[in-house]
Amino acid sequence: MDLENCIVCDSSFLQVIHNKVESLPSNFSVTNNHAGRFVIVRCQSCGMTFVQNPLTSEEEKEVDLIEDFHEEFPEPEGRHRYMARMLIGEYEKNSRLRVLEVGCGYGAILRFVRDKGFRYEALELSPWRVKMLEEAGYPVARMTLREYSRKYQDRKFDVIIIDNVLEHIVGPKKIMEEAMALLAPEGKIIISVPGLYDVRRWLVPGWARKYLWQPKRHVNFFCSRTLASMLSPMGLQGGSFPLLFPRSADARQFILFLEIIFDRFLPEPLFGLYRIFAKASG
Ligand SMILES: [Zn+2]
Repeated sequence: MDLENCIVCDSSFLQVIHNKVESLPSNFSVTNNHAGRFVIVRCQSCGMTFVQNPLTSEEEKEVDLIEDFHEEFPEPEGRHRYMARMLIGEYEKNSRLRVLEVGCGYGAILRFVRDKGFRYEALELSPWRVKMLEEAGYPVARMTLREYSRKYQDRKFDVIIIDNVLEHIVGPKKIMEEAMALLAPEGKIIISVPGLYDVRRWLVPGWARKYLWQPKRHVNFFCSRTLASMLSPMGLQGGSFPLLFPRSADARQFILFLEIIFDRFLPEPLFGLYRIFAKASG
């Protein structure tokens, strides 16, 4: 097949890697319905790794319904509470804080910060999740960032959260450009994505296949370098999350706190990739 150019640097120097990735057989498939279907490539110029032939949007809806379906709100992850604390910290500095979350899922962060007093808008595409949140009293707009930015082009946000979304989006550059257009001059974009070099790939048998290489749902596999390469031409400069010592005996928060410490010293994070991007100065 003809390969599309790199989604980050536009290089045509791509190598098919799914037969070289651990835990994936050369003709791997996630289900029998998709036998041998997906092609994962790595850009030989910048290292970006991505699925060449993702699901169509119709197929995607079906997968989403089957694979990420909860009747009740799932338990929040450590990162959700951590990000909620970061937002509350921002609000203490700026009482007019405006926050937009792109792809809020089951509203884990929203549910932590709802009563704190700042403006928090959330976008989510899954009709089921939107319905659940609305029934629980959390208004969420069911639209894409593109639709939102066209409809409300005059709105600006101090913080935009894109939490575990970029790995799912075909054309992640586009969504970041749309986010930039809604960012206030001193605004920040908080991003988390799974890390391509997560150590559990090598340490935990079956982990990579279950949580990383799932080409039906994950189409982009970022590392800290490729995320920065995608965003620096847009004038965005990334930094680590602030160190927030856990306030409770919550193990998830403590693990995240350790991750953020290690992130400051290691070239690649041990687990997920947590970054705050701001407009580069000068
Ligand atoms: Zn590239």
